[in-house]
Amino acid sequence: MSEIIVQKFGGTSVGSVDRIEEVAEIIKKASKEKKIIVVVSAMSGETNKLITLANHFGENPDKREFDALVSTGETISSALLAMALHSKGISAKSYSASQISMKTTDSFSKAKILDVDAKKILKVIDDDIIPIITGFQGITEGGDVTTLGRGGSDTTAVAIAAQVGAKRCDIFTDVDGVYTTDPKIVSNAKKLDSITMEEMLELAGQGAKVMQTRAVEFANKFDVPVRVLSSFKEGSGTLISLEDETMENAAVSGIAFQKDQVKFTLHGVGDIPGTAFKILGPISEGDIEVDVIVQNVSVDDKTDFTFTVSSEDQEVVENIINSIKEEVNYKELMIDSNIAKVSIVGAGMRTQTGVASRAFKALSNNNVNIEIICTSEIKITMVIDKSLVDKAVNVLHDEFELDK
Ligand code: ADP
Ligand code: ASP
Ligand code: MG
Repeated sequence: MSEIIVQKFGGTSVGSVDRIEEVAEIIKKASKEKKIIVVVSAMSGETNKLITLANHFGENPDKREFDALVSTGETISSALLAMALHSKGISAKSYSASQISMKTTDSFSKAKILDVDAKKILKVIDDDIIPIITGFQGITEGGDVTTLGRGGSDTTAVAIAAQVGAKRCDIFTDVDGVYTTDPKIVSNAKKLDSITMEEMLELAGQGAKVMQTRAVEFANKFDVPVRVLSSFKEGSGTLISLEDETMENAAVSGIAFQKDQVKFTLHGVGDIPGTAFKILGPISEGDIEVDVIVQNVSVDDKTDFTFTVSSEDQEVVENIINSIKEEVNYKELMIDSNIAKVSIVGAGMRTQTGVASRAFKALSNNNVNIEIICTSEIKITMVIDKSLVDKAVNVLHDEFELDK
């Protein structure tokens, strides 16, 4: 059988019937040379519309029904795209998560993929039919519909590419590749021809929404080459390379930011073994991602414990922290939702010194106060005031001359 390519089309790419027609052309052309498997997102705006509908009967709709509803945007786009291909004389069939047994955990709205029926998909392409698979959707062991979190169609695509042994996964979107930062925020952001998997992991993890983090994790784990490119104009896009670059890596390759963050500080916590676990254990059990964890030096055996979570998890985390007040014995809980994270990422940070101080100086020269600093091998994350994010990203982009 000829090589398989998985093509994923995001919301804007299939945002109207005209767009769907253009996407059908891209698929038709590619199918002349390769076996194609397609994964689609909902038409742009559709998932948001469904979420608004879901919230009509109360702020916390039943989780199972919420996913049953918001997953339907992909059902519409997949069937429409199959029809568009039929109109061009191409055999295609839409498939929902349940039809290809896209098994996930039962963690509604943030379900994780466990398995998919690759044999079934391979049989379809063997019969010269192009499968158009709904992204974002999953199904539990018991048959309930789940969703994979916002932007989850990327993960559907990469997971399928891994399971069928595809040669590559192409992520078609509204920009022509991965940029040094979000081109919507920095007008002279530069498109990268390639980026290493570990840099992409950090950028996605720190908010570059061009790919969902789980998708990059899958690509990394199963060695799936990924290309990010535009469905609006031709071009080679950005290759996320599996091999480490042999040439010298840039100290800073890209900048990511996250505005939807909230900071929790437990003031006056006892500085005794087991405290961090007592606080973070129940939060991670709730499948909530915690970032930027800081514990201060203790004074009189009391300390402050700070961490950030995504804004959507604020209420759940607040309830958890309130419920462990006696056990952890903290004095006061402070919640700040007026913060954001800005991260600079670059594999060259391993070998080049002075990157952090350059970033801090540039921000201070521009009156951006840094509240928390948190570093890893190839990343520096800074927590700052939410209103200063766009300015900070531009300042750092200039400082590291990322437009050059
Ligand atoms: P899709 O609907 O195709 O999945 P998304 O909106 O999820 O598209 O992701 C594409 C968007 O990601 C771009 O329009 C851009 O604004 C944003 N983005 C953020 N950071 C980056 C980056 N470093 N490079 C490219 N795009 C980025
Ligand atoms: N439609 C879903 C969303 O808007 C999934 C995706 O687009 O990847 O988040
Ligand atoms: Mg997306």
